[in-house]
Amino acid sequence: MKILNLDNRDYHMHSSDFSDWMSTVDEIVRFAGEIWLTEIAITDHSDATLEKFKREYDYRPSTMRFAIKTRQNVFNDVKVIFWVEWDLLDEEWNVSFTIQWLEPDFIILSAHRCVFKWKDATQGYIKAIEKHHDKIKFIGHPCFLLEKFWTTSDIKQIVEVANKYNIPLEFNAKNIVKWDTNLEKLDYMLKNANEIYINSDAHTLYDLKESRKFAIKYLKENNYI
Ligand SMILES: [Zn+2]
Ligand SMILES: [Zn+2]
Repeated sequence: MKILNLDNRDYHMHSSDFSDWMSTVDEIVRFAGEIWLTEIAITDHSDATLEKFKREYDYRPSTMRFAIKTRQNVFNDVKVIFWVEWDLLDEEWNVSFTIQWLEPDFIILSAHRCVFKWKDATQGYIKAIEKHHDKIKFIGHPCFLLEKFWTTSDIKQIVEVANKYNIPLEFNAKNIVKWDTNLEKLDYMLKNANEIYINSDAHTLYDLKESRKFAIKYLKENNYI
């Protein structure tokens, strides 16, 4: 198992411009520079989740998505990337691709209980990876404690297919901080995945600053690194 970003890079976080963080892209980028991050990916939720926010909370993000095409970082040297956290929709390969109908070049693939309504997410993951592997940067929070809420997934099969297509899996720092991680699955993934990212999945500046540190401490205490 190789961890790809033990340094100061974080590839999973959300903004208030495009989904459900408390801070704007500009606030995130400024703060990322203050805490010495060198590269960040802002990975807001897809239209499937955004529709859900609109329907259930009358909440909608504030910024037109096409603005990112001409955006430049005027604050610091942090490299800023915009991907999308795709939503697995069903047990076939179907996923929600877009934010405001715009499709990104690269994505992270996740399942969220608010839009995935099936009992077992395993086949959905496998088929989506087989179909979209050339776009997927990593699998988001595959050890999320899904069964606590609504469904299950087989981490062994997901790791196997991810390894086959050279796709890293994510050790999600937010979930480990909040005890939303299935530790058995995490152990299996850390021992068997070829490549791992440790990302904050930050929804607040505090998450961005602290959660990866907690995940790295967990890895050290449990002799993974
Ligand atoms: Zn997610
Ligand atoms: Zn996320």
